[in-house]
Amino acid sequence: MDGQPYAYAHRPLVEPDWTRLPGYRDVTPAEWEDVQWQRAHCVKNVKQLRDVYGDLLTDAFYEDVERDQAERATMSILLPPQMVNTMVPDAVPTDEAMLADPVRRYMLPALSDRDPDWPSHPHAERDSLHEAEMWAVEGLTHRYPTKVLAELLSTCPQYCGHCTRMDLVGNSTPQVAKHKFDLKPVDRLDAMISYLQRTPGVRDVVVSGGDVANMPWPRLESFVARLLEIESVRDIRLATKALMGLPQHWLSDEVRAGMTRLATVARSRGVSIAIHTHVNAAQQLTPLVAKAAQAMLETGIRDVRNQGVLLRGVNATPKDLLDLCFALQDEAGILPYYFYMCDMIPGSEHWRVSVAEAQRLQHAIMGYLPGFATPRIVCDVPYVGKRWVHQLDEYDEVRGISYWTKNYRTSVERDDADALTRRYAYYDPISSLPPEGQAWWASQREREGALVS
Ligand code: SF4
Repeated sequence: MDGQPYAYAHRPLVEPDWTRLPGYRDVTPAEWEDVQWQRAHCVKNVKQLRDVYGDLLTDAFYEDVERDQAERATMSILLPPQMVNTMVPDAVPTDEAMLADPVRRYMLPALSDRDPDWPSHPHAERDSLHEAEMWAVEGLTHRYPTKVLAELLSTCPQYCGHCTRMDLVGNSTPQVAKHKFDLKPVDRLDAMISYLQRTPGVRDVVVSGGDVANMPWPRLESFVARLLEIESVRDIRLATKALMGLPQHWLSDEVRAGMTRLATVARSRGVSIAIHTHVNAAQQLTPLVAKAAQAMLETGIRDVRNQGVLLRGVNATPKDLLDLCFALQDEAGILPYYFYMCDMIPGSEHWRVSVAEAQRLQHAIMGYLPGFATPRIVCDVPYVGKRWVHQLDEYDEVRGISYWTKNYRTSVERDDADALTRRYAYYDPISSLPPEGQAWWASQREREGALVS
């Protein structure tokens, strides 16, 4: 049917030609597909960025990135060549093309991207979801009644500028000194297993970090194998953006053989293992990513699903979301599952969208994909948890404050009689508000400034 708001078209995936970038001119396909080569050639700073792009980009661009690292960044730079190659994928990059590129906008932030008036919302917080407060044992967040999140490690093969766990994950930046785990890794993992053994009400374990692709495979396999021995654990999800950022890892013989062993045991016990990845833009899906997803499905795991993040300037249009979802579903065999609204961490205002905008986007993407592959856009409300964006209780659209309720207690509210009737606030980015709303926030800022001085 012609004349629809979104025009569906089948778009086969293409591996961008990495030899268009001066730093990768002589890289062979064998090197490119080698996980060690990819890890050894990650871009970690502006000097290494210059080594890749050379004179294609000007000093102004490099300074823009350098100043962001010094003045605003909550995450350090870490980009495997695979991911670098998905920025401006079908042309020789220029400053303008890089600045406009959706992948660059969230994986390689520049100072000029940030909101000049309100780089951070006044209610922005490190650990905005209060995960550490809800640790049952170090690194094991018990927020929902039947599910836990196990943060096994605090590193990833790539660092995203908007990372929710900026408090803990990655290297310190000039603006953010990262928290560190106290326990030794082996003791922390033992404590998690022990908690799950004595807490049979937990049936679902998200094994995350960081990114599980940075854990030496034998240690990850042993942890998941121990989870599989716990009778009450029925769902295990492995969180790895690297399925897309470093598919070479998931294509390695060691990992494929190990996942096959785990999937075989899981199936024999009726347990589901799934991989959850994090892709935010259709151009990040290349044939190599699809191959890695397929390789994982062939091991016998239950599914590969995508949990993207809704980011202004990256994917916050109906077309961008639907292009991404169709690429995931049709070309890579990855189920479009969730889009999270970007959390209220410092420096994230330019990425965030309002709840009203998220509701419009949810409405706009309904009816195109199969129902089971239509992602939900969710707001992770502090002290509440994920809510579908239409589930709010009340909404002041002028000041951008929405109020939410919940139907369970988090682990910090066991003795709180009001937990299920209280309303919890979430805040829209101030730049998205009408003038009177922006003026109200400015007056609040002035008043607080006067009180402080
Ligand atoms: S891969 Fe996930 S944990 Fe790692 S930096 Fe990105 S968002 Fe954060």
